[in-house]
Amino acid sequence: QNEATSGEAVRFFAPEMASRRLRRLLLETELRGAIDSEQFVLYFQPLYNVVSGRMIAVEALLRWQHPTLGLIPPGEFIPVAEETGLIVPLGRRVLWEAAAEMEGWRRSGAFSGEVHVNISLRQFEQPDFVDQVRAVLEETGLPPSHLVLELTETAIMQNVEENVARLRMLKGMGVKLAIDDFGTGYSSLSYLHRLPVDTVKIDRSFVSAVHAAGDDAVIATAIIHLAHALGLNVVAEGVETAAQVEFLSSNACYDMQGFYFGRPMPKEELMKAMK
Ligand code: C2E
Ligand code: MG
Ligand code: MG
Ligand code: MG
Repeated sequence: QNEATSGEAVRFFAPEMASRRLRRLLLETELRGAIDSEQFVLYFQPLYNVVSGRMIAVEALLRWQHPTLGLIPPGEFIPVAEETGLIVPLGRRVLWEAAAEMEGWRRSGAFSGEVHVNISLRQFEQPDFVDQVRAVLEETGLPPSHLVLELTETAIMQNVEENVARLRMLKGMGVKLAIDDFGTGYSSLSYLHRLPVDTVKIDRSFVSAVHAAGDDAVIATAIIHLAHALGLNVVAEGVETAAQVEFLSSNACYDMQGFYFGRPMPKEELMKAMK
């Protein structure tokens, strides 16, 4: 129970709360200084189709290597970047770099699949977001069908009319769209058919318990069937075991991403995985 007024609770919680607030403040300050530096590195995690055995896409995942604080995970700095608005310049850079890398692989013949890029709501809501995407495609030369933008359903549902209109514009340009962490939001099932998306990514929380034949397995199966009924692609996230691969493919979900296939890695390492 959170008893902030009790003397004992304050004595017990204050140092931890203060240090959390300090850490947050520290990250905010450091983030401002780091935006234009070399401290940010894009990692890439492969997505595989288990039928063809081929890598079909890669997801760009941002890493912050701070000179003194060490590696700070996105789960910690992305929320700070979102709250401060720094996600706008940072996200624009991620989009540009991911598209440029993908176009390099495509031109060299190393890999001709898709690159997935995570987009925060704050970034997506910029009035010129669609123009930014168009500019990135023009500058890098990447054909739009090789770019997949990942948004969470929670983000899309914030301002659904406007966001759906924006999604339509992107689709009109030929860019692909995926719903990330599907199943963790509130709106999911009833609204899915109204969203102009191509792909649904089943959240890791449903995938991890999938072989245990409990509720999570039922939910994962329902998501797969619903998505297919609506003509959407399904990717399972966070696949870690052969049993999960087995379960998912026996339920007609063949596109997978997770540590079982490969962790997020620097581009040099990914190039080796491309063969
Ligand atoms: P996400 O987009 O859902 O990305 C998948 C996350 O799951 C990644 O965490 C990935 O490393 C992790 N993952 C993949 N396979 C497995 C697995 O088999 N087991 C487990 N335990 N984890 C797995 P990561 O890289 O720490 O990123 C966390 C979140 O931070 C991402 O979740 C995404 O929401 C956000 N993020 C990362 N990069 C960016 C970015 O450039 N822009 C924005 N806006 N958000 C980003
Ligand atoms: Mg994602
Ligand atoms: Mg996800
Ligand atoms: Mg996520």
